[in-house]
Amino acid sequence: MSQFWSQLVHSLTPYVPGEQPKVDNLIKLNTNENPYPPSPKVTAAIAEQNNDKLRLYPDPNSDLLKQAIADYHGLQTNQVFVGNGSDEVLAHAFQALLKQDAPLLYPDITYSFYPVYCGLYDIDYELIPLNDDFEIVAEDYQRDCGGIIFPNPNAPTGRLLGLDVIKQLLEMHPNRVVVVDEAYIDFGGESAIALVNDYGNLLVIQTLSKSRSLAGIRVGFAIGQAHLIEALERVKNSFNSYPIDRLALYGAAASFGDEEYFQNACQKIISTRETLVSAMTEMGFKVIPSAANFIFATHPQQDAAELALALRERKIIVRYFNKERIDQYLRITIGTDAENAALIQAFKEII
Ligand code: PMP
Repeated sequence: MSQFWSQLVHSLTPYVPGEQPKVDNLIKLNTNENPYPPSPKVTAAIAEQNNDKLRLYPDPNSDLLKQAIADYHGLQTNQVFVGNGSDEVLAHAFQALLKQDAPLLYPDITYSFYPVYCGLYDIDYELIPLNDDFEIVAEDYQRDCGGIIFPNPNAPTGRLLGLDVIKQLLEMHPNRVVVVDEAYIDFGGESAIALVNDYGNLLVIQTLSKSRSLAGIRVGFAIGQAHLIEALERVKNSFNSYPIDRLALYGAAASFGDEEYFQNACQKIISTRETLVSAMTEMGFKVIPSAANFIFATHPQQDAAELALALRERKIIVRYFNKERIDQYLRITIGTDAENAALIQAFKEII
């Protein structure tokens, strides 16, 4: 390949997703999927569409889903944007709202898709270091910027930021958009959706992939005041982006109609997380306090990469990041109680 073509191809640094192994006999704790199935109401709603109706295009505006989300959160439908997974919603937010004449700010340890989108959309950014306890410090964001984005709880640390600090950030930059990526908020956090009617510069993004067990159908959404949602719709429509497909649309909408199932599944994951945290703490791990469906942990006497390998030999996959500052940590998804017990047993054998 000539240098020109090679440079063109290599100028992008694509996101590398967690491994999705093709074999079934593994305990898969590496990509923060939910270990429980979606609500039976979801599978019934999908089955109802999975027939002759597949001939028909889905509603290009996804109105059914926007209405379900708006009703669930006590908002208007013009405050809801939906997309194919929150990764797609994030992509639109980067283009519509975060590309400004000053650098975008986000924490130095965060969701690794953010730098990818900045590269792709040519957005200037600055990394703001987390403190020694992996916490976001609001004062550090007091500088000229084109916007702020962070996950809450943060990924891959699991650390939760309180709404008081989020308000501080919103008030610090009233003319910049603050995007709160709440992929994991349902596992113990308080959603910033409660603030959207008070702050015209707040966009909250959520996904159905984690707490609603629907990673396989790719649905995410954003909540904000109508002017922010309109900006997202304009970018989306300029791309002729695909609407949510028919099966995803009906399945996702149904997931907001089974609150009891949803709450029970989240509570179950929270209690399994606490069991895992106690067991690992007893084994000498330092576990970062987590409000997510995963934990982030390090062991002072064990090399994290070797631990990940030893788990893999026992058919358990966890996430290891070969990255400065976090290369001695493992990120472990909370599985079922049986998976959790197998993980604890494996650690006992290894350590
Ligand atoms: N935000 C964060 C912080 C995530 O960890 C993920 C999942 N990898 C996403 C967004 C994207 O999730 P999805 O596209 O499945 O909605």
